[in-house]
Amino acid sequence: MPVDLSLKSLSAIVSVPLGLAVGSFLNVCIWRIPRNESLAFPGSHCPQCNGPIAWYDNIPLVSFVWLAGRCRRCKAPIHWRYPLVEGLTAGLYLMTVLHFGVTVRTAFLLLFLSVLVVITFIDLDHKIIPHILSLAVIPIGLLGSILTYDPPPRDAVTGALVGAGLVYLIAVYAEVAFQQESMGGGDVNLLSMVGAFLGWRLMLVSFAVAVAAGASLSLALIASRVLSRKDQIPFGPFLALGAAVALFGGNRLIDWYLGLFG
Ligand SMILES: [Zn+2]
Repeated sequence: MPVDLSLKSLSAIVSVPLGLAVGSFLNVCIWRIPRNESLAFPGSHCPQCNGPIAWYDNIPLVSFVWLAGRCRRCKAPIHWRYPLVEGLTAGLYLMTVLHFGVTVRTAFLLLFLSVLVVITFIDLDHKIIPHILSLAVIPIGLLGSILTYDPPPRDAVTGALVGAGLVYLIAVYAEVAFQQESMGGGDVNLLSMVGAFLGWRLMLVSFAVAVAAGASLSLALIASRVLSRKDQIPFGPFLALGAAVALFGGNRLIDWYLGLFG
């Protein structure tokens, strides 16, 4: 149907600048939330010279290229992570719109993915997952399941509870068995949030992908002596990666896995 096709391409075209703009805001969240700074005031400023950044120097991706990656006033380099987060967010928004269309569920998923992006970079920098990004977002996931029935509310509640319990039990076990902290309270809240948005099945896929990715990367980094056995690698970014993989390919992964047994 040509009508469907044009709506799809139109929404895909709109999703990219929307994702870039939101990504620009997520950069602000990543910097300010762990520092307990207001998200609204003051306006954007250079972390080096504290000079205000004009709107025309604050256009996602474009300004970074235009300014050759440097502050207009003090010429301090702008971290490559700023355009990375903007591009990543735009890519996730495009994928979500192409995959799920323009629906109420898509709106909830865009919020979910945005929160995961912020959590990933805050956890990498500070090794914390603020409650405002995990615990506080769980009710929004449950609300989404009530409104869209995807996942059904019972699956979402089960996902939130089992997700929290799973990480909690493994954390306690690891502490007893290896006398080392493996996952923290932030990871408990994060997997619970993933369960609330995706339901318990895709929550389990998220966790399995996160453990597989986290374990293989850790082993590779230890084997190549980039890290020592004592170094702590934050688990939040792997859970976020796992959730994105589960969202876009989880049902195919489940089919493949069950196919192995018959
Ligand atoms: Zn500057």
